[in-house]
Amino acid sequence: MKIVADLHTHTLASGHGIDTIRTLVDFAVRKGLKGIAITDHGPGIAGGPDPIYFMSLERMTQGIDLPIRIFYGVEDDIKNRRGNLTLPEYILRDMEIVLTGLHPFTWIANQTPNARIDAVINAMGKGFVQAFTHPVGTYYEIDLDPVIDAAAAHKVAIELNATKLSNRELVISCLEKCAKKGAAIVVNSDAHLGEEVGAFDEALMLLNEIGFPEKLVVNQSREAITAFLSVTW
Ligand SMILES: [Zn+2]
Ligand SMILES: [Zn+2]
Repeated sequence: MKIVADLHTHTLASGHGIDTIRTLVDFAVRKGLKGIAITDHGPGIAGGPDPIYFMSLERMTQGIDLPIRIFYGVEDDIKNRRGNLTLPEYILRDMEIVLTGLHPFTWIANQTPNARIDAVINAMGKGFVQAFTHPVGTYYEIDLDPVIDAAAAHKVAIELNATKLSNRELVISCLEKCAKKGAAIVVNSDAHLGEEVGAFDEALMLLNEIGFPEKLVVNQSREAITAFLSVTW
């Protein structure tokens, strides 16, 4: 299996990345990727950019003259139990890819485990979230069964985050639940610097080891990506 596009990367606009859009895209081309998504954090995280950054993102990404498809998107945070995200909905609906995940210094950080589950499931039901990022091994653990059930029902992908694989047992258990429940996954780097873009070797070895069904991997072909994101390419 091969991953053709890295669908989760951060530039310095996120407030804690070090590279520009152009640099990340350049690394993606050099690594042989066919596509990359620029998905900076939204305004809900400390240091995140204002809505106007995202309103300009289509023009900025589509203007780069390199042989690669650049998707413009966001990794936005949830701001209430109803599952609303911090960017206005009209901006989110304009994005090619919308990710959400649990991060420190956001609304979710101060919630109970049950409130977090409700918020994530409700966000998935809004119709514009395409993937739930780093579901295990990071800031806040969450009961994966109801979350993966909702992901499968709403056609939201669960991320296999290639730079957060240290808790192998948890990552494998998450992948096994996805396979069992028929939830799609997306393999992303979550790069915060150019060198991390497309660093998928360890994640792919893991998928291979556990015999994860290839048909559930969203970004293994251009066709699968266009179908999953409802975009042209
Ligand atoms: Zn994240
Ligand atoms: Zn991220």
